[in-house]
Amino acid sequence: MTTLTRRGFLKATGGAAAVGAFGIGFPHIALGNNKNVVVIGGGAGGAVAAKQVKMADSSINVTLIEANDHHYTCFMSNEVIGGGRDIETIRHGYDGLAGHGINVVHAKATDVDTDGRTVTTDDGSTHAYDRLIVSPGVDLKFDAIEGYDETAAEVMPHAWKAGPQTALLREQLEDMDDGGTFIICPPGNPFRCPPGPYERICQVAHYFKENKPKSKILVLDAKDKFSKMGLFTQGWERRYDGMIEWVSGTDTAGGIASIDTSTMSVTTEFGDTHNGAVINVIPPQHAGQIAHTAGLTDDSGWCPVHLGTFESKLVPGVHVIGDASIATGLPKSGYAANSEAKVCAAAVVAMLADAEPGTPSYVNTCYSLIAPDYGISVAAVYRLNADASKIDKVAGGLTPSDASDEMLQREVQYAYSWYNNIVADMFA
Ligand SMILES: Cc1cc2nc3c(=O)[nH]c(=O)nc-3n(C[C@H](O)[C@H](O)[C@H](O)COP(=O)(O)OP(=O)(O)OC[C@H]3O[C@@H](n4cnc5c(N)ncnc54)[C@H](O)[C@@H]3O)c2cc1C
Repeated sequence: MTTLTRRGFLKATGGAAAVGAFGIGFPHIALGNNKNVVVIGGGAGGAVAAKQVKMADSSINVTLIEANDHHYTCFMSNEVIGGGRDIETIRHGYDGLAGHGINVVHAKATDVDTDGRTVTTDDGSTHAYDRLIVSPGVDLKFDAIEGYDETAAEVMPHAWKAGPQTALLREQLEDMDDGGTFIICPPGNPFRCPPGPYERICQVAHYFKENKPKSKILVLDAKDKFSKMGLFTQGWERRYDGMIEWVSGTDTAGGIASIDTSTMSVTTEFGDTHNGAVINVIPPQHAGQIAHTAGLTDDSGWCPVHLGTFESKLVPGVHVIGDASIATGLPKSGYAANSEAKVCAAAVVAMLADAEPGTPSYVNTCYSLIAPDYGISVAAVYRLNADASKIDKVAGGLTPSDASDEMLQREVQYAYSWYNNIVADMFA
């Protein structure tokens, strides 16, 4: 008979817990070590990491520091912008996590003392940690496009953090006259949710088709290629033919150079100026501010990490997950953040017990809604490569370009089911 030691058990669960986003978790055990784990950011990465650590070892004191009382998911926010969903349906609270025994602190983390291992929050309190998990998402680079600052974003919303910006863009589209032009300016890589701008184009096009059919969409892209490009452009032709004009990165010479809210215009790097009735500027991004403050970012503005544990390559004892991390091989998506959270939580629990973390697998599926009866998706399973330098895709697939109408319709139902599952995994 094989005896499973605590170290061996943690190693085994560490490997297994990383595989799936849902259903596979930790057994509830108490190892009695009374360690402190602090998590900054209660979004797609942080909420799941906090929950997984607590579920793996209930004796660990887990504190989740989140700036807002509620979290609006970016996933499905494009459907809010298109008018197909109420914003309240993407708003989630933290009572479920508190119910798991997690100490939820609603405050903004303002500083990290990485030597003394404490986090300071804007309510003046400090939180000691043995291991810190940072998942602050992205901040928008307001110095990247001339004229585009936080004030300009109230006129030309980015809607790249869900909440009031999502509601503002929706209102502007509702107020727009039929026959107006909606301009959207997707950024260059890397950025949060590579297919997101193109799903947004579909959602707005659907709204126009039903309500303002003389309106047009002008896409001033910084790139020549984008995620699921073949499937998106096929969808545009099939459903919104003649409504969408996409201008490539070559023709904009790399995107938007400046904006002017007084004339409602944007000027590309190429020098062309375009006027729009509603303008959605999605500026370049980098890791959330607290990652910079804590010394976790490199020159790229993102956080280099060891891919098997998500421990920072720059600051020992601190792990970075989600959009802020450089998870080479994985996209900056909510589902990837969820998978990274599970890998990271398993590693943190193992490391606190002086056990060796297992070799992880990772998953990502991304659905995009082209119309209420037309969805597409990409799915992949990944594994850490042999020298741990990269996360390799080992299996995956894409909606076939000759998918039947029934299959495309089913993708929409899968997308809704995915959403319900991922928010339950985060907040229930
Ligand atoms: C329009 C759009 C559509 C998308 N659709 C999908 C989709 O269909 N599928 C998918 O998988 N992904 C999607 N994404 C991407 C997904 O939203 C992100 O990749 C994911 O949210 C990243 O998780 P995160 O934990 O890194 O950041 P977030 O989920 O943004 O969480 C960060 C949290 O940290 C908090 N925070 C930040 N700084 C501090 C601080 N100093 N102190 C305290 N709290 C702080 C924030 O308030 C926030 O709650 C979409 C994104 C957009 C913009």
